[in-house]
Amino acid sequence: MPIGEHVGKADWKTEKHVPAIDCPDKVKADQMFDVKVTVGKEIAHPNTTAHHIRWIALYFHPDGAKFSFQIARAEFAAHGESPEGADTSTIYTHSTATAAMKTKRAGTLHAVAFCNIHGLWESEKKIAVE
Ligand code: FE
Repeated sequence: MPIGEHVGKADWKTEKHVPAIDCPDKVKADQMFDVKVTVGKEIAHPNTTAHHIRWIALYFHPDGAKFSFQIARAEFAAHGESPEGADTSTIYTHSTATAAMKTKRAGTLHAVAFCNIHGLWESEKKIAVE
Protein backbone atom coordinates (compact mmCIF):
# COMPACT_ATOMS: atom_id res chain seq x y z
CA MET A 1 0.00 0.00 0.00
CA PRO A 2 1.49 3.40 -0.94
CA ILE A 3 2.46 5.51 2.05
CA GLY A 4 0.13 8.25 0.77
CA GLU A 5 -2.77 6.11 1.91
CA HIS A 6 -1.46 6.36 5.48
CA VAL A 7 -1.10 10.14 5.46
CA GLY A 8 -3.99 11.86 7.19
CA LYS A 9 -5.83 14.63 5.40
CA ALA A 10 -8.43 16.88 7.00
CA ASP A 11 -9.35 20.50 7.69
CA TRP A 12 -6.69 22.11 9.91
CA LYS A 13 -9.44 24.09 11.64
CA THR A 14 -10.95 20.90 13.06
CA GLU A 15 -8.05 18.41 13.12
CA LYS A 16 -5.09 19.51 15.24
CA HIS A 17 -2.44 17.51 13.35
CA VAL A 18 -3.00 19.10 9.94
CA PRO A 19 -0.40 21.74 9.02
CA ALA A 20 -1.84 25.19 8.23
CA ILE A 21 -0.08 26.91 5.32
CA ASP A 22 -0.08 30.72 5.45
CA CYS A 23 1.13 32.61 2.37
CA PRO A 24 -0.33 34.87 -0.34
CA ASP A 25 -2.85 33.26 -2.73
CA LYS A 26 -1.14 35.12 -5.56
CA VAL A 27 2.54 36.14 -5.76
CA LYS A 28 4.64 38.17 -8.17
CA ALA A 29 6.86 36.14 -10.50
CA ASP A 30 10.45 35.79 -9.30
CA GLN A 31 9.85 37.73 -6.05
CA MET A 32 10.48 36.26 -2.63
CA PHE A 33 7.51 35.64 -0.36
CA ASP A 34 7.10 33.99 3.04
CA VAL A 35 5.39 30.68 3.64
CA LYS A 36 4.54 29.94 7.28
CA VAL A 37 3.51 26.43 8.26
CA THR A 38 2.02 25.67 11.67
CA VAL A 39 0.65 22.55 13.32
CA GLY A 40 -1.78 23.55 16.04
CA LYS A 41 -2.81 26.93 14.65
CA GLU A 42 -6.50 26.62 15.55
CA ILE A 43 -6.51 23.67 17.96
CA ALA A 44 -3.35 23.31 20.07
CA HIS A 45 -1.42 20.05 19.71
CA PRO A 46 0.08 18.64 22.94
CA ASN A 47 3.69 19.60 23.29
CA THR A 48 5.21 17.14 25.76
CA THR A 49 8.06 14.67 25.98
CA ALA A 50 5.65 11.80 25.32
CA HIS A 51 3.59 13.42 22.57
CA HIS A 52 4.73 16.14 20.16
CA ILE A 53 5.27 17.20 16.55
CA ARG A 54 8.73 16.10 15.40
CA TRP A 55 9.01 17.83 12.02
CA ILE A 56 7.32 19.63 9.18
CA ALA A 57 8.43 19.42 5.53
CA LEU A 58 7.30 21.78 2.79
CA TYR A 59 7.24 20.93 -0.93
CA PHE A 60 6.24 22.84 -4.07
CA HIS A 61 4.85 21.21 -7.18
CA PRO A 62 4.73 23.54 -10.21
CA ASP A 63 1.65 23.09 -12.40
CA GLY A 64 2.34 20.49 -15.08
CA ALA A 65 5.73 19.49 -13.65
CA LYS A 66 6.75 15.85 -13.35
CA PHE A 67 8.44 16.18 -9.94
CA SER A 68 8.01 18.14 -6.71
CA PHE A 69 10.65 20.40 -5.15
CA GLN A 70 11.51 20.40 -1.46
CA ILE A 71 11.34 23.96 -0.11
CA ALA A 72 12.20 23.49 3.58
CA ARG A 73 12.21 21.11 6.49
CA ALA A 74 12.02 22.08 10.16
CA GLU A 75 12.88 19.79 13.10
CA PHE A 76 11.41 20.48 16.55
CA ALA A 77 13.74 19.03 19.12
CA ALA A 78 12.94 20.35 22.61
CA HIS A 79 9.96 18.66 24.27
CA GLY A 80 10.54 19.23 27.98
CA GLU A 81 13.03 16.43 28.49
CA SER A 82 16.10 16.86 30.75
CA PRO A 83 18.42 14.71 32.90
CA GLU A 84 15.70 14.89 35.59
CA GLY A 85 13.27 13.12 33.27
CA ALA A 86 10.29 13.76 31.04
CA ASP A 87 8.64 17.20 31.10
CA THR A 88 11.08 18.71 33.59
CA SER A 89 13.21 21.16 31.58
CA THR A 90 10.41 23.73 30.99
CA ILE A 91 11.89 24.11 27.47
CA TYR A 92 9.52 23.33 24.62
CA THR A 93 9.42 24.03 20.90
CA HIS A 94 6.23 24.97 19.07
CA SER A 95 5.70 23.41 15.64
CA THR A 96 5.82 26.46 13.40
CA ALA A 97 8.35 27.50 10.76
CA THR A 98 8.64 30.16 8.07
CA ALA A 99 10.52 29.79 4.80
CA ALA A 100 11.01 32.33 2.01
CA MET A 101 10.80 31.22 -1.63
CA LYS A 102 10.20 32.51 -5.14
CA THR A 103 8.89 31.00 -8.36
CA LYS A 104 8.02 32.01 -11.90
CA ARG A 105 5.55 29.16 -12.12
CA ALA A 106 2.21 28.70 -10.42
CA GLY A 107 1.72 25.49 -8.49
CA THR A 108 0.77 23.84 -5.23
CA LEU A 109 2.49 23.90 -1.85
CA HIS A 110 2.33 20.64 0.09
CA ALA A 111 3.09 20.51 3.82
CA VAL A 112 3.67 17.22 5.65
CA ALA A 113 3.92 16.98 9.44
CA PHE A 114 4.87 14.08 11.70
CA CYS A 115 3.47 13.49 15.21
CA ASN A 116 5.42 10.91 17.20
CA ILE A 117 2.14 9.24 18.25
CA HIS A 118 -0.29 9.96 15.42
CA GLY A 119 1.93 9.74 12.34
CA LEU A 120 1.84 11.70 9.10
CA TRP A 121 -0.56 14.51 8.15
CA GLU A 122 -0.68 16.71 5.08
CA SER A 123 -2.28 19.78 3.60
CA GLU A 124 -1.93 21.78 0.40
CA LYS A 125 -2.39 25.30 -0.91
CA LYS A 126 -2.42 26.58 -4.49
CA ILE A 127 -0.32 29.57 -5.46
CA ALA A 128 -1.06 31.72 -8.51
CA VAL A 129 1.68 33.81 -10.16
CA GLU A 130 1.11 37.22 -11.76
FE1 FE B 1 -0.47 13.86 18.07
